Amino acid sequence: MPNERVVILGSGPAGLTAAMYAARANLDPVVISGNQLGGQVSITYEVENYPGFPEGTTGPELVELMQKQAERFGARVVIDEVTEVDFRRGSPFRIQTYGEEYTAQSVIVCTGASPNRLGVPGEETLIGKGVSFCATCDGFFFRGKDVVVVGGGDSALEEGLFLTRFADRVQVIHRRDALRAGETLKRRAGANEKMSFVWDSVVEEIVGNGRVEGVVVRNLKTDTTERLATDGVFIYIGHFPNTDLFRGQLDMDARGYLLVNPHMMTSVEGVFAAGEVQDSVYRQVTTSVGQGAAAAMMTERWLAERS
Ligand code: NAP
Repeated sequence: MPNERVVILGSGPAGLTAAMYAARANLDPVVISGNQLGGQVSITYEVENYPGFPEGTTGPELVELMQKQAERFGARVVIDEVTEVDFRRGSPFRIQTYGEEYTAQSVIVCTGASPNRLGVPGEETLIGKGVSFCATCDGFFFRGKDVVVVGGGDSALEEGLFLTRFADRVQVIHRRDALRAGETLKRRAGANEKMSFVWDSVVEEIVGNGRVEGVVVRNLKTDTTERLATDGVFIYIGHFPNTDLFRGQLDMDARGYLLVNPHMMTSVEGVFAAGEVQDSVYRQVTTSVGQGAAAAMMTERWLAERS
């Protein structure tokens, strides 16, 4: 059973940055990738607000560079998923994955967040058959087609704009009459002739027989429903933190985000957390990277104080 000084759970920007800092501090970190190597940003097409890339970059490129940089200093990225953790008896902690059981003197939890579902009829059964949470992954299949995007935040507009490269028409369905997204994306979406908006409306059902054919939409102001024909439904209505593994072991807020102290330590001594798993406010690659660095620095200090 490998006995590690620090095991990092998750390989998004927070996890890979924590790995780079921990590796440079000679802690020989292991990163357990989780089900999405690189995390959410690895399925984001364009990243325009990460410093150092004046022309922008892509999510996959950014995380590949982060991984290479962490590995250059000795971090080991293992493609595997954690199935169970035992933090109850304190350090050393036990971590079970599909392929291995680890003990670790310290842990940095960077398991990130996952997209919320609408929870309407048709959504679950039509995933992969026109329902998608990832325009970067699936946009290509909608060349020349009509799609709808659900949500009014930055993700909905950014991914909607990406979809205009393929689809003939992208209708954004938003539950209010004002977007949550920032000004730049609002301006770009407004100027794109393939994009249009269905305001004050929610999707009540996704319809299709083996393939998406339409959505039933309720206008909340007029309380009327109509069916819109569409080939695809892309859902961007926020995220929930990936903390199921830690229920009953680490303190969380009412929405499941991990609670950390100013030193990035969770309610268990020696277990730290960084990135979206403990941040419901900023949720940027830039902020996750900073939190990952801080968590690794505090982990190093905590281990040094105990040795
Ligand atoms: P978000 O900002 O939380 O927006 C979620 C959107 O979904 C909101 O418009 C919300 O409506 C709507 N919504 C939530 N639940 C819904 C439901 N059950 N039915 C229908 N609509 C629902 O999430 P996000 O867009 O994924 O962004 C997350 C974070 O990442 C933000 O901080 C964002 O700034 C950041 N981000 C930044 C960029 C960028 O800078 N380029 C790109 C992507 C994401 P209401 O507006 O009515 O609440």
